[in-house]
Amino acid sequence: MRALRTTVQTMTLLGLLLPLALSSGCETNPYTGRSQFLMTSVSEEIKMGAQAYDQVKSDPKMKPSQDPREIEPVKRVAARIVEAAKRSKYAEMAQQFQWEVTVIKDDQTANAFALPGGKMAVYTGIFPIAKTEAGLAAVMGHEVVHALARHGAERMSQGQATSIGVQVLGTAAGVGTGSAALGQATMAALGVGAQVGMLLPFSRKHESEADYIGILLAADAGYDPRESVALWERMGQMSGGGPAEFMSTHPSHETRIDQLKKWMPEAMAIYQSKPSVPAAELPPIGR
Ligand SMILES: [Zn+2]
Repeated sequence: MRALRTTVQTMTLLGLLLPLALSSGCETNPYTGRSQFLMTSVSEEIKMGAQAYDQVKSDPKMKPSQDPREIEPVKRVAARIVEAAKRSKYAEMAQQFQWEVTVIKDDQTANAFALPGGKMAVYTGIFPIAKTEAGLAAVMGHEVVHALARHGAERMSQGQATSIGVQVLGTAAGVGTGSAALGQATMAALGVGAQVGMLLPFSRKHESEADYIGILLAADAGYDPRESVALWERMGQMSGGGPAEFMSTHPSHETRIDQLKKWMPEAMAIYQSKPSVPAAELPPIGR
């Protein structure tokens, strides 16, 4: 009886996984040429992203900001970054996404994320680190690349935390039929682990890719890409002084700033070819 049940469970699991296995394959990053192994489809990732966003927003601790001084700069920067994404090598995917940004009123949390499907959140606690709209553009350009380059999906496919594999694939199948809530591991792989207390740092190759393509997007959006260097310097100074969720999932590498400087001429050429946009100071927090 027990053996039969196990067999049935195994067959059920195979039934769930088979369609996913068939949709898996290798992709090549259009900017870096890096080859990526992905076991989920973009449409499954979009559904998971939307569900993760709903789960974050339904958390009673998450209070959307009501202050236009906080909301408007974030919306402005997000809109310009999204427009740049729609002109980028990710244009096709960026057009498919249902972009949306929420400003979460939480001055203690320095964090921001973008999910597959284009749902984004910025916590007010990141304002002092971003400082200006150009600094925020560096943060959001970086985050949007994690979503467009399918880094979350890649982490799920790699099953970087071993327990992730089966749970995530089962979830992908469940989300497809609208029946599953996302578990901790899936939330962590998508980059919203802080929400469920399971932080999963992005790997160095993902961080490099997000840095590189992120400054190209920020520059194309009209923001000075050199702000990214200043941003990561401030981020480094902050990391000793309190809980910075962003730093836990975006580990600082010694090479990060060197690499940014190496890529800067390419980003500056884009920036100088565009009308620059005003990059006002972000509002002070803790009022
Ligand atoms: Zn990152």
